[in-house]
Amino acid sequence: MTTSQAVASAGAARVAELLQRSDRAVVLTGAGVSVPSGIPDFRTPGTGIWEKVDPMEVAHIDAFRSDPDRFWGFYSQRFASLVDKRPNPAHEAIAELERRGLVRGVITQNVDRLHRAAGSRRVIEVHGSIDRCVCPECGGRFELDRVLEMIAEGPATPECPSCITPLKPDVVLFGELLPEAAMAEAHALASEADLMVCVGSSLEVYPVASLPGVTLAAGGRIALVTQGRTPYDGDAEVKLDGDVADELHAVVAAL
Ligand SMILES: [Zn+2]
Repeated sequence: MTTSQAVASAGAARVAELLQRSDRAVVLTGAGVSVPSGIPDFRTPGTGIWEKVDPMEVAHIDAFRSDPDRFWGFYSQRFASLVDKRPNPAHEAIAELERRGLVRGVITQNVDRLHRAAGSRRVIEVHGSIDRCVCPECGGRFELDRVLEMIAEGPATPECPSCITPLKPDVVLFGELLPEAAMAEAHALASEADLMVCVGSSLEVYPVASLPGVTLAAGGRIALVTQGRTPYDGDAEVKLDGDVADELHAVVAAL
């Protein structure tokens, strides 16, 4: 074993120990957990479909309202880029922690459905999910498969068959508030948690970024599994900054 492997193992063992000692641990994930599945973090410049567009411009609620065809011209590519992606060992490790009763659930900023696909049962999707679209007029909900059929059949903008109104993905667009019920559940889990394991998130996007602070304020601990700096580096019991899939695999192996 090299020195760096030994250091990595020591960190993973510490996270495993914290999990075993906690009663109400929760996991919080961001884009980094899905990067090994081939889904780039869109806030990283120069990656994939976001290379030529400004997500703040095209994935903004105002863009959807003012020019739904342009919005869907872009967003249908995003759907297409996500539908065939599979969970990676990081998602699987998090599902395994829940199966073993070591975490109560996972709060995620991701809309890609991969935690559920990996077998996680309690998944709080605070930014929504590509699983469905909604009609802004009648509130009708349409499953992803149906929306993909609509996109394939054309015109490219999927519409509610009753209202002839462009559907909106059930994801939180820029400029939109986060879903109240999901945020309330996330907040409750965070305030009750004696340990929050934050995975693949820079913890910079509010209000989700405030959740580790909720746990800390209630006397809980924070563990970080993420590359790059976060505002909570100084508060964390331990930080693992290698590949998320390798790190979480090591954590499960150390249990
Ligand atoms: Zn409708």
